[in-house]
This record gives sequence, structure tokens and C-alpha cells, in this order.
Amino acid sequence: MTVNHTNLLGLNLKGLETFFAEMGEKRFRAAQVLQWLHQFGVDDLDAMTNISKALRSAIAERATIEGPEIISDHTASDGTRKWVLRMAGGSDIETVYIPDGNRGTLCISSQVGCQLNCSFCSTARQGFNRNLSTAEIIGQVWTARRLLDKPDSRLQAVTNVVFMGMGEPLLNLEPVTDAIDIMLDDHAYGLSRRRVTVSTAGVIPAFEPLRSRVPVSLAVSLHAPTDELRNQLVPLNRKYPIKELLAACRTYVKDEARQKVTFEYAMLKGVNDQPEHARALAKLLKNVPSKINLIPFNPFPEAPYERSDDQTIQAFQNILIKAGLITTVRRTRGDDIDAACGQLVGKVIPRQGRRNSRETRQGMTA
Ligand code: SAH
Repeated sequence: MTVNHTNLLGLNLKGLETFFAEMGEKRFRAAQVLQWLHQFGVDDLDAMTNISKALRSAIAERATIEGPEIISDHTASDGTRKWVLRMAGGSDIETVYIPDGNRGTLCISSQVGCQLNCSFCSTARQGFNRNLSTAEIIGQVWTARRLLDKPDSRLQAVTNVVFMGMGEPLLNLEPVTDAIDIMLDDHAYGLSRRRVTVSTAGVIPAFEPLRSRVPVSLAVSLHAPTDELRNQLVPLNRKYPIKELLAACRTYVKDEARQKVTFEYAMLKGVNDQPEHARALAKLLKNVPSKINLIPFNPFPEAPYERSDDQTIQAFQNILIKAGLITTVRRTRGDDIDAACGQLVGKVIPRQGRRNSRETRQGMTA
């Protein structure tokens, strides 16, 4: 008989129901196990006391509970906490927790490295290794909750999840949506779908499958108001240009009255931060229900850009606000532990990447 070592962490409710059906067990076991794993954060079948000993050992013959290995755990001066987590195969990814008043946002990764080569992002320098599995994606939430939640508190530390760590979530759609199922499931994390945000550089063909499966909040990394400039910053734009991207955004939110798309815009000194860029952006987004989030550029070694000055960012924001667009400036969090946007590098064992990525890494460790 072959032993099938399913990782129970990677199964959503449906997956667990199938798992138990194949064992000839009742469906309701699925909800029980989901609750033990994700609400109570257990990592041991024997802790599941409403499941008989006989059934627990039958489960143990087929499955394991395998969370990620924690390689490091740092807390920044502002309370932002970053974990480096080791994945099977030896690559490391990063997960960041950002507390802010009553809100606690967990920023998770969807791939080991990234294929998109955005010119202002340090993850791009690491090349690409592989997609994360459902277990590896939800494992980040599971780990954070186990470390953050106080057992006697009814307040949950993680109130929001954003796919803004390493990787492009819409190039890893199946595992990402299966993991989102677990985030939204009331037997697991019970997050409302508005509190889960998928951030994409604009993989248009995945918008509709995402919306019909799990219509979570959408953030789009825009960064430029013209194709000419965006082609340089986000090479994926050559495949999916701005006009088509914005049409897809409109479609994504069309059935929902108050739902908006968040547009992320990294402020790069002298590159995309001038008043004419702001005016062009305002014109572009006039007919899209949108929020704009300006992200002061976070530097990394050998970055080819600088952060825009505060006054420049302020002036840019004012133009957008005057044009009627909701515009916020993202506060830089956790930069003293390299946990800010675009600073996540992990340790990618590259299979595909920029030709110069190896040289860059050597330069950094020398
Ligand atoms: N691949 C997805 C999600 C990962 S990046 C995406 O492109 O949306 C999360 C956000 O951080 C994106 O908006 C990205 O463009 C931005 N970002 C990347 N590098 C940055 C940097 N150095 N400074 C500021 N923001 C950056």
C-alpha cells in the first residue's frame, strides 16, 4: 500500500471533506479538523480531542501537519514583525505582520521569488524558484496566528491579509484561491472577503477566475500613467497594457456598489512623481472606482532609484485629491528590519532570473 502524506494544512473544507470521504468517514469531520488546525492552531492530531483515538491514528497513517520552519523572527522599532520561513527545497520566503491600532495586517508571499522583474523591486533581483503550495501559503497565516494570539484573548491579532509579499499571486491562482477559502471559512480564520487583498502587477486573464471563485479586494500595482513609462517599471505591461488593465479592473468591481480597486503607486524620484504624472493618472482613473495608495519608494542595495521627497509626494497627492480621487500615502513600516514593501528578498535558490541576479547577490554578501 502506498502511504500518501497529505499535509492537512493545505486542505480547504472541500479538500478535507474529500479526504474523509475517501476514508469512509463523515463529512462533519472536515469542519472539526479545520477548526482545530486554524482556530485553535494545533499542530498535533492528538490535541483533537473530539476525534476518537482510532480515527486519529487512521488520519496519521495518511496525513501530517507540517507548518513552515521559522528561520528568523524580528520585531522592528514600530512593532512590525518579520519572519523568514524555510520552504521545502531550502528556499526562504518572508512574511510580515503590521499592527496598526485595532488592525493587524499580515503581508504574505505567494511564490519563492518572482518572475516579473519590476525594476524597482528587490524580490525581482532574487530570480524565481517556484510557486508556493496551498499549505505553504496558509502556513504563513497559521504560523503568525500561533505566535501572535494570546490564548486568553478573544481579539484576533490578524484582522487583514494582503498578498503583497514575495511573488505574483495571480500567477499561482489555484493554491492562492484554495488558501483564501481557508482564510474566509468560519471554521478557520473567518475573515470577511473585503479584508483579504490580492495585489497584482496586472495578470488580466486571472481577474475573472479570481472574482468568480473568491471575490476578495483587488490591488493593482500601477506605478505609471503611460504605457511608455510602465513598460520600463513593470515589464508585464508589454503583455497587458494599461487600457486593458483598467477595463479589467472596472469589470472586477462592477457588480458591487461600494467596492473599489486600490492602485499602488511607488514614488520614484524624478521618474514618475511629477505633477504631469499626477494629472495623467487622475484622467486615467476618472472612470474606475478607485483608491490610490502612494508608496514612498523603499531603497535596497544597488537600487537604481531614489525615494521622492516628502513635498513632492504631498504635491502629487494634492493633485489627485483635488481631482476627486481618494488618495493615501502608505506609511513606511518596518524598514529598520528590511520588512518594507519591495525589501523582501528571502533566499531564493534561483532557477530562472535576471542574468545579473547572481552577481548582485554576491556583491551583497561580499
Ligand atoms: N506581485 C504583486 C505583489 C507583490 S509587491 C504586485 O505586483 O502587486 C507589493 C507592492 O509593493 C507592489 O505594489 C509593488 O509594486 C510594491 N513595491 C515593490 N518594490 C517596492 C519598493 N522598493 N518600494 C516601494 N514599493 C515597492
